[in-house]
Amino acid sequence: MEATLVILKPSAIGRAIAGEIISRFEKKGLIIAGMKMMQLNDEILDEHYAHLKDRPFFPRIKASMMATPVVAMCVKGIDAVQVVRAMTGVTNGRKAAPGTIRGDYSMSGQENIVHASDSVENAQIELARFFKPEEMFEYRPTSFNYLYASDEA
Ligand code: ADP
Repeated sequence: MEATLVILKPSAIGRAIAGEIISRFEKKGLIIAGMKMMQLNDEILDEHYAHLKDRPFFPRIKASMMATPVVAMCVKGIDAVQVVRAMTGVTNGRKAAPGTIRGDYSMSGQENIVHASDSVENAQIELARFFKPEEMFEYRPTSFNYLYASDEA
């Protein structure tokens, strides 16, 4: 089963919609394998957003990500990376499709509620960046047999 990193950004915490967003992942049938609140800093954001470091808005994004603590989640499921990205929607909340998290909750290209890993490879790198191994749990929810057919799981 795949694992992916979700971050509930300050735009989710500040607007007090973290519970609603977590609930969407739970209702979809994704398994929450790790979850913690943390205050991000320059060091972790320089790594996490290294692909944006030459963009003019890089300092602004970092400040936005440090505005409040965030909630980091390790979310598991079959094809979890692609499923969570689809639930998240495109980067700009104004362009994200209704029904997606960004499409339903964001009007901004920056204040877009959630981060979600964009590939299986990056998910592994990002989970290792945000979680210690002992902070991610292996368990089978009692609903498991209703989440997947026997030949899927
Ligand atoms: P995504 O989060 O959809 O994978 P990126 O990795 O390209 O997108 O960007 C990381 C984050 O940086 C975005 O989620 C958004 O908060 C911010 N960002 C990206 N592009 C812009 C932009 N043009 N203007 C403002 N913020 C941006």
